[in-house]
Amino acid sequence: MNATLNAPQAPVADAAALAPVIEFKGVGQVFTSSDGSRVEALHDVNLSLRRHEFVSLIGPSGCGKSTLLRLVGGLLKPTSGAVSIFGMPVTEPRDEIGFAFQKPTLLPWLDVLDNITFPMRHKYGRIDDGDKARAQSLLETVGLRDFARKRIGELSGGMQQRAAIARALLHDPDILLMDEPFSALDALTRDEMSFELLRIWSERPKTVVFVTHSIQEALLLSDRIVVMSARPGRVAEIIDVPLARPRNLATLSDPVFTHLANDIRVKVFTRKPE
Ligand code: ADP
Ligand code: MG
Repeated sequence: MNATLNAPQAPVADAAALAPVIEFKGVGQVFTSSDGSRVEALHDVNLSLRRHEFVSLIGPSGCGKSTLLRLVGGLLKPTSGAVSIFGMPVTEPRDEIGFAFQKPTLLPWLDVLDNITFPMRHKYGRIDDGDKARAQSLLETVGLRDFARKRIGELSGGMQQRAAIARALLHDPDILLMDEPFSALDALTRDEMSFELLRIWSERPKTVVFVTHSIQEALLLSDRIVVMSARPGRVAEIIDVPLARPRNLATLSDPVFTHLANDIRVKVFTRKPE
């Protein structure tokens, strides 16, 4: 007998919510370096992200984490396989994506506020008072309220990174790609920013792909953690994070948190290239 006959019918809206927002199918990426040598950065990556899911990518340096983000962002075309967003192949950068790069790519001749509003001004030719108010409020969120009119060169590396995060959030994107966004921050600011990001994500849900080297950060933030193997990068394991939300400081001392952190540490450090 067909088991699906007895399954409860999911409403159509739920079906849409369950459809993947981002999908990698058999994705491979080979780079040809300037000296002509070939580097296989990704090999047969298969991964689906659901709507409003928070997923972290973790794995050794050079395993293709940034490459995966660039593929979703439309900054790179896969050598093999397909990357799609909302069921459509990615062919170019799209408006519904916010990207916070590993190094803040800010314009040194503009002040902080103008940097944050630059992509919108570039796209629409102008910005309105609402955009400016949102930019100001985001600056507050990332702790830069008093720096709106400062030049980029007057900010520390960590402050620049926070400005870049505010810029990625300004147009309230459906998809947020973050490449080690907190790595330049000190430990305290890092925790604070993690909780801020969780607050923003719960107030304005979005699908987030977050690259990090920190197992703690991945656990604190994510619904799922994708552990990648060394080059060529592949999905080695996907770990569900069963910690309740909202997460807060108490989450860090939850026994489940500690247990999972140890478990993942073993997986990341003992994983040999296959
Ligand atoms: P990760 O972010 O996990 O540290 P990357 O995605 O940056 O790794 O890089 C994966 C591999 O691909 C590395 O070996 C890197 O040197 C190589 N690579 C990345 N981009 C390029 C490029 N544009 N040209 C040549 N090699 C590249
Ligand atoms: Mg990287």
